[in-house]
Amino acid sequence: MKLYNIKDHSEVVSFAQAVRQGLGRDQGLFFPSEIGKLDHIDDLLKLNLVDRSEKILRAFLGDELPDLAGILKRAFTFPAPLVKVSENTYALELFHGPTLAFKDFGGRFMAQALQAVSDGRHITILTATSGDTGAAVAHAFYGLEGIDVVILYPKGKISNLQEKLFCTLGGNIRTVSVNGTFDDCQALVKKAFDDQEVKTSIGLNSANSINISRLLAQICYYFEAYAQLPEDRRKNVVVSVPSGNFGDITAGLLAKAAGLPISRFVISTNANDTVPRYLASGVWDPRETVPTLSNAMDVSRPNNWPRVEELFKVMNWKLSDLAYGALNDDQTRDAMCELYKTGYVGEPHGTIAWKALQNNLAEDETGIFLCTAAPAKFKENVDAILGTDIELPEALASRAKMPVLSDNMDPDWNALRRYLLKK
Ligand SMILES: *Cc1c(COP(=O)(O)O)cnc(C)c1O
Repeated sequence: MKLYNIKDHSEVVSFAQAVRQGLGRDQGLFFPSEIGKLDHIDDLLKLNLVDRSEKILRAFLGDELPDLAGILKRAFTFPAPLVKVSENTYALELFHGPTLAFKDFGGRFMAQALQAVSDGRHITILTATSGDTGAAVAHAFYGLEGIDVVILYPKGKISNLQEKLFCTLGGNIRTVSVNGTFDDCQALVKKAFDDQEVKTSIGLNSANSINISRLLAQICYYFEAYAQLPEDRRKNVVVSVPSGNFGDITAGLLAKAAGLPISRFVISTNANDTVPRYLASGVWDPRETVPTLSNAMDVSRPNNWPRVEELFKVMNWKLSDLAYGALNDDQTRDAMCELYKTGYVGEPHGTIAWKALQNNLAEDETGIFLCTAAPAKFKENVDAILGTDIELPEALASRAKMPVLSDNMDPDWNALRRYLLKK
């Protein structure tokens, strides 16, 4: 598989290089030189998730990642059920993994892929988290040989449950509560990547969300959704994607480009609506990011958007074919109540996708909306809005009883430097 840098097409790398490097020159994103093309879609749809995903990704990867089958078996250890919500609307539940969010798919595949392309060199993943990313990274890399993980988070500024989810693992996962803010944590991470000695001696890697391996993994569950649709519903399929950094929808568009017959997409955002406003007016005008109920989508400069535009260019598609919708918090609360009346408990992110879909869906279309996190992950808000008392899934309930294993540190680069080098 070859990929080029969107900002400088003369920089061409292999999949292995793109996974190891993350970004190209000038912070440019890597984009596949050729989109995998799949035919015999009907035969593909009959396979199970892991076997089908191997065929899909092989079309992109060529002969890279020889152990793709093993990697997928270890990464995709949980299902993505499609749940009927009304006559023509289905929820794709992507939250049945260890950290109860769709990021488990991309995170776990990336961890396995990175290990496979590392040539035995030791790797240290260093990342700062305000909550959710840390959990997905910690669980994805837990127990992988040759890879250490260090996660920094602001002490006292994440919920107890969030802390329990990723600070109780031990083994190759080290967590550090920093006496400061999330920005302090991010500044420390940046210092580490600027320190050449630290960087090379411990094989620093950020495992961040623009890594191409994550997108490849996410292509697979769009096929899985389609495969679960009843046959008489496989016409005029519309998919609504709750979007923050626009990685998830990039993967969906790549699935369509590879041959999955999705008719169109709905981009769904919260009040951080840079893209919906751009599609309406043609003016790219990011505003200051505002905090919302759907905080994983609080992004006003989505870092995967250049990939979306590149794909539309390559495929000769028109951006005007993208539908969109944006909900503020009041509208999100109302939509959660409305969805609950149909018998489905939604959390803010997936519910925004549901409502934007409802606002867009024609009578002869079938809609799928992506549920990116489990309601239990947002239990406080969900219970307050719906008057429910939702149960914690076993994965969360059992972690909640375990002791937190974190180290503690002041936001001081020299302290972190010693910590990283001592190992
Ligand atoms: C990350 C995240 C999103 C946004 O996904 P992008 O790929 O960044 O657009 C949506 N919902 C949840 C729950 C998330 O964690």
